[in-house]
Amino acid sequence: MKPGAKPAEALATRARSSVNYSYFTIRLTRSRIEKGLIAVPKQLSDMFPDENSEITIYSGLSGEPEIKKYSSFRSTTKENRIGGMSRWFTERGVKAGDEVVVQVLDKERHIYRIIPEEGFITRTRELEKKLDNAEKEKTAFQRISDIADWTRTTRKMASLGEFRRIVEQESLTKRQYVRKNSNSSREGVPHHLRALLEEIYQGHCQVCDFTFFKRDGRPYFEIHHINPVYGHHPKNLVLVCANCHRQFEYSDVHPYFNPDRWLTRVSFNDRKFSVKQACLQIKYQPVKHVFT
Ligand SMILES: [Zn+2]
Repeated sequence: MKPGAKPAEALATRARSSVNYSYFTIRLTRSRIEKGLIAVPKQLSDMFPDENSEITIYSGLSGEPEIKKYSSFRSTTKENRIGGMSRWFTERGVKAGDEVVVQVLDKERHIYRIIPEEGFITRTRELEKKLDNAEKEKTAFQRISDIADWTRTTRKMASLGEFRRIVEQESLTKRQYVRKNSNSSREGVPHHLRALLEEIYQGHCQVCDFTFFKRDGRPYFEIHHINPVYGHHPKNLVLVCANCHRQFEYSDVHPYFNPDRWLTRVSFNDRKFSVKQACLQIKYQPVKHVFT
């Protein structure tokens, strides 16, 4: 079999993820629900124990973890199974055709999270809303951690996912009320956007890459609004060092935008710089894999 080729018996289909993260689901059939089990496709065996074992399952929202029996296809059964799920199905009103999201929390210790897909999406959106409404920078960082943990990704990828979501949500339109002095808008950048930019670029200037650590261990950076009339739209914000920020304000600036309105190059007087844009450089199409 070619590397990456799928075994014939594994049926996985790709679908568009409805959140900015990749995940996979197992679709439940009527007969499995009646038997109170989740069949784990062989293709996913590596994520589970090799032998029959007890596994710990978290259901996502609240409540104590539950211990379930896992039987490996390498033992007596023909397929991998998580048994003893009847009550779990009933309590969550799971029906035939529903999909559950499966995540590995700790493979060595056999700890998993299994959530009905709808619950997964709802919770993701709740966490995103909490991030958007963070009233302190510290809270925004905590929300980024929560999202990374919930979607099983890194803080950086979570930040990029959230940044992309906000880019897609809001159109780049002129604000009705514009502050005259764009210098003063720095403190106005919403906490979540400031935290996301810090995570994505780790404080490195998008123009010249410079950064330094402050005594508190965090990188120093400033945020420039490219055009004050576009406000805090993510495409209008650039994380910069103090030096580049001053050049944006005082030098002869020529910005170049790509067709999607991202600032990709800038010249200060005659010095040309390319501007790093993580959303353009890190190609990532979140995908959902459905196993049946
Ligand atoms: Zn710079």
